[in-house]
Amino acid sequence: MIDLRSDTFTKPTPAMLEAMLQAEVGDDVFGEDPTVNALEEKTAHLFGMEAALFCPSGTMTNQIAIKCHTQPGDEVICEKTSHVYIYEGGGIAFNSGCQVQAIAGDRGRITADQVLYAINALDIHKPPTTLVSLENTANRGGGSCYDWAELLKIRELCTNQGLNFHLDGARLWNAMIAKKQTPLQYGQLFDSISVCLSKGLGTPVGSVLLGKSDFIKKARRMRKIFGGGMRQAGYLAAAGIYSIDHHVGRLQFDHDHAQQLADTLNKNKYIAAVLPVETNIVIGEIVSDFSAVQFTDFLRTRNILGMPIALQQVRFVTHLGINADMMSETLHAIEQMK
Ligand SMILES: *Cc1c(COP(=O)(O)O)cnc(C)c1O
Repeated sequence: MIDLRSDTFTKPTPAMLEAMLQAEVGDDVFGEDPTVNALEEKTAHLFGMEAALFCPSGTMTNQIAIKCHTQPGDEVICEKTSHVYIYEGGGIAFNSGCQVQAIAGDRGRITADQVLYAINALDIHKPPTTLVSLENTANRGGGSCYDWAELLKIRELCTNQGLNFHLDGARLWNAMIAKKQTPLQYGQLFDSISVCLSKGLGTPVGSVLLGKSDFIKKARRMRKIFGGGMRQAGYLAAAGIYSIDHHVGRLQFDHDHAQQLADTLNKNKYIAAVLPVETNIVIGEIVSDFSAVQFTDFLRTRNILGMPIALQQVRFVTHLGINADMMSETLHAIEQMK
C-alpha cells in the first residue's frame, strides 16, 4: 500500500531502530533518563529556549501549554480550524476551563488585525483574553505557512496586550524548510512552542514542548497530572534525536512530491481545484457530481490510500515512507482515472 493518508503513518527506519536499541535509559519521572534529558536539551538549544519537555503526543504538549498559560474562565484566540480547537477533544474547555474565540482565517492562518479585533476589552461581562495560539504549518489550511512579517506583528500585539503566545508547531519543521527559517527565529518569537517528532519524521511517539524554565517546570507537573509521565522513555527520545539529525533535512523531498501530486491532481477531471501547496499536504476539492470517497475508493483499487476529509475534499500527505517510485506510481494512477 502507498499510504498518503497522513504523515503520522511513518515508521522507524532500521537505523532509527538501531539508535533506539542503543539508547541509555532511566526513570524519566525521576529525571534520570539520560536520553530524554539529551533530547530536551538538544531541542531547547536548537530553538534557543530555556527548557523543554518530552511528551507522548502533540495533543498533550498543546494542552499542557494552554493549561499553563491560562486560568479557568479565560478566553483563547485561535483559528477556527486549528487542531487545538477541533481535534483535541474539547480539551481547552475540559482541561483548562477556557472558552475559545475562533477566527476564520485564510487557509488556517490569522492576521494581527484579526487578533486585535478578537481581544476582549477589560469588562466584567467578558472573559479575559489571555492566550493566542497559532498553528504552523496549518493542517486544515493544506500545510500553509505563516509569513514572518505577520508573525512579528502578532508577537508585538501580544507583548503590548500582555497576552501569552503559543505555537502549535506539529509540522513546524516543514514550515522552516519551506520558508528557509530557523528554529532560533521561532524561539525568540513565541512564549511556548510544541513540535512533533512523529509527523513525517519516522519517530513512533513523541512531541516536545519548549518555553522558559519556570514555564516548563509548571508544564512538567501538568504532564504528571495528565498522566503523561513516562519511565524509560529514552528509547522513544532516541528515535526523536535520530529524526531531528537525519530526517528533517530531507523534508524538501516530500514538499517536491506534494507539488507533483498537486500538478497531476489539477489535470484530473474529478478535481475542481487544489489548494496551493506549500509543504507536504495536498488538499483537492472534488467536482460536484463526484465524492471524496469515490475518489479514494478508486485509488484504493490501485493500492494507494488518500483520505476523504469532507464530503468533497480529499487529502494526501507526503512523508518519509513515500519514495520516488511510489510517487510515480501514484501520479500514474491519477492520470489513468477515466
Ligand atoms: C498531529 C497534530 C497535532 C498533535 O497530534 P497528536 O496526534 O496528539 O500527536 C497537533 N497539531 C497539529 C496541527 C497536528 O497536525
